[in-house]
Amino acid sequence: MTAVDLTTKIRDVLDFPQEGIVFKDLMPLIGDADAFRQAIDGLADWCRPRRPDVILGAEARGFIFGGALAYTLGCGFVPARKPGKLPWDTVQATYDLEYGTDTLEVHADAIREGDRVIVLDDVLATGGTAKAKVDLVESIGGIVVGAVFVVELTFLQGRDKLAGHDVHALVAY
Ligand code: AMP
Repeated sequence: MTAVDLTTKIRDVLDFPQEGIVFKDLMPLIGDADAFRQAIDGLADWCRPRRPDVILGAEARGFIFGGALAYTLGCGFVPARKPGKLPWDTVQATYDLEYGTDTLEVHADAIREGDRVIVLDDVLATGGTAKAKVDLVESIGGIVVGAVFVVELTFLQGRDKLAGHDVHALVAY
């Protein structure tokens, strides 16, 4: 199979969801069988040697990539959700976004003490979301063994918030 240039499947949408933001729209990539498989396989190749027990991703695009990645790796998936969506006892973290603030929750029993966890998202922007996920994992006893992204917006220096952790992105801008 010929490699797909993933950047051809990532669309820039100007001023979404608010003025001044160049939104990286990954729907064309997800909708293309070869590009989606290549992205998941690329993420899996980086994750595999880190031997994760679970992948943690947030709604909504984190579920799409995270579910496929966990299946490929043969590990579990833990969803991080907006407040009030999860039915069991939760822990939560609030964080700053490139555009606003947000809160994420996970089930308090979703990760066992000592579980090896990789946090995932479609886009690493300022790193606030990823850092919140790292904090959630660590607050319930998990060990973060990596943070993986499809796209990294390097000019926002999100990696700085993840200092001390292994970080990888398939495509950097
Ligand atoms: P951040 O916390 O700033 O790293 O933002 C990461 C989260 O916000 C991810 O879940 C992204 O989906 C979303 N996001 C932030 N900025 C962008 C952008 N320019 N394009 C697409 N998604 C973005």
